Amino acid sequence: MNVAPSPRTQVRRGANRADYEQRTIRRILDAGLIAHVGVQTSDGPLVLPMAYGCDDEALYLHGAAANHLLGSGAGHDICASITLLDGLVMARTPFHNSMNYRSVVVRGLATKITDPAAKLQALRIITDHVVPNWDVGRPVSPTDNRKTLVLQMPLTEASAKIRTGDPIDEEHDVEGPWWAGVIPLETRFLAPRTAADCESSRPIPAHYVALEGTRTDER
Ligand SMILES: Cc1cc2nc3c(=O)[nH]c(=O)nc-3n(C[C@H](O)[C@H](O)[C@H](O)COP(=O)(O)OP(=O)(O)OC[C@H]3O[C@@H](n4cnc5c(N)ncnc54)[C@H](O)[C@@H]3O)c2cc1C
Repeated sequence: MNVAPSPRTQVRRGANRADYEQRTIRRILDAGLIAHVGVQTSDGPLVLPMAYGCDDEALYLHGAAANHLLGSGAGHDICASITLLDGLVMARTPFHNSMNYRSVVVRGLATKITDPAAKLQALRIITDHVVPNWDVGRPVSPTDNRKTLVLQMPLTEASAKIRTGDPIDEEHDVEGPWWAGVIPLETRFLAPRTAADCESSRPIPAHYVALEGTRTDER
C-alpha cells in the first residue's frame, strides 16, 4: 500500500499532526472499531457509523443488500473516517481546550465486490477485525453471502492525524491561577456475558475471555 497525501488528503490545519505513513495509518485502522462512512445519496449527504475491516490494499464495509448508504456509495467517491479518542485536553481557557486523538480519513472510489469468494474473504476480514470470530461460529452460508453487500475502497488516498500531549496555552495565561492538563480516556472490554438463550454450560471461547480488562485498541 503506497499512501501519499493527495491535494484533498493533505492536512492543512495542524499539519504538524499529520502522518501519511502506511504503518501509522494501518495501526490506527487496526485499533479502531467504527468507521463513519460518508456518501452522497439521492436524498442528500449521509454519514453513518459502521463496522469495517482492512488489509494492506483496501478498507471493507458490509451491510444488507438493500442498505441505502452502501448502495448509494457503490461506484462513487466516498469517505470513511476512523477515530480513537485518547483524552480531553483542558486548557486554561476554553478557547484552547482540545482532545487527544488518533484518526484516519480514507477517501476514494467504493467498488461493490461481486465475486462470491472475494466477498467471503472480505466478510472474514471485517468479522475478524472486530474480534476474531469467523472460525468459531456457524459458517456463513451462500444465502447469507447473497444477502450481504460488500464494498471495498482503496487505501491509496488516506491521511492520519494525531494529537498527543498537554494543552497549548498562551504564554501570558500560563502564570495564571487556572488548572491545565489532560483527562485521559480509554475504552475497555468487560467480562463476556452469555446470551439468555444460550446454554450457560457452553464454554465461552478463551480468546473472548482473555479480552476482559484490555483496551479495545489492544485487541
Ligand atoms: C457501532 C455501529 C456499527 C454498525 N455497523 C454496521 C455495519 O457494519 N453494517 C451495516 O450495514 N450497518 C451497521 N450499523 C448500522 C448503520 O449505522 C445503519 O443504521 C445501517 O447500515 C442502515 O443503513 P441505511 O443507509 O440502509 O439506513 P436507513 O435505514 O435507510 O437510514 C434512514 C435514516 O435513518 C437514520 N439512521 C440510519 N442509521 C442510523 C444510526 N446508526 N443512528 C442514527 N440514525 C440512523 C438516518 O437519519 C438515515 O438517514 C452500525 C451501527 C453502529 C452504531
